[in-house]
Amino acid sequence: MTDQKDENARLNEEHRIRMQKTQAEVRERVKAAQEERGTLIVLTGDGKGKSTSGFGTVARAVGYDMSTAVVQFVKGTWPCGERDLLKKLGVPFHVMGTGFTWDTQDREKDIAAAREAWKTCAEHLQNPDLHLLLMDELTYMLNYGYLDTDEVLSALQARPINQTVVITGRGAPQSLMDIADTVSEVKPLKHAFEAGIKARKGVDW
Ligand code: ATP
Ligand code: MG
Repeated sequence: MTDQKDENARLNEEHRIRMQKTQAEVRERVKAAQEERGTLIVLTGDGKGKSTSGFGTVARAVGYDMSTAVVQFVKGTWPCGERDLLKKLGVPFHVMGTGFTWDTQDREKDIAAAREAWKTCAEHLQNPDLHLLLMDELTYMLNYGYLDTDEVLSALQARPINQTVVITGRGAPQSLMDIADTVSEVKPLKHAFEAGIKARKGVDW
């Protein structure tokens, strides 16, 4: 019994010392981070959670009544719960390709729609009053060559200092990750779809 008590006391003390050390290290790092500016966040990889993370960040900003905008590089007919919510809240929300369908596989029309959506992004990227811009599924436009990567990178780098940009999509080009401040890769360890479970409204879209 006493042995057990001693062992517990020793473990508690070890834990206390470890926590104290971690706390000191975290405090040091917090103190060292002095720069205040918006960041470029890239959320990529094949796992589930990129767009939901991007929209989660938009929700955070909206919660503080900060100015946000979303441009979604998907076909306009795709349902999306976040879009309906944010539109109700008055967040500017542009969806590429409303009015035509991807099913036609008309490359020229796809490119025109991508460029149109990019025009909206370019305007947002010049707005110093915009706190946060989400460009959902942008990476595909770069990978298909629908948008000029250099033009996109230049606009990102020239944006107002306090503006944060979140970009989502699989296969983010290296050049985009190179200029980003934060890059997360979502890795699929398991996905319900592979077990034959259908995607669900209010969960997957
Ligand atoms: P979410 O919108 O759920 O955060 P995502 O943005 O990470 O997903 P996308 O690549 O944009 O993923 O996927 C579009 C759709 O496919 C979404 O409905 C998403 O839930 C689903 N999905 C994402 N990853 C996988 C996967 N590994 N296998 C099957 N379906 C997936
Ligand atoms: Mg997505």
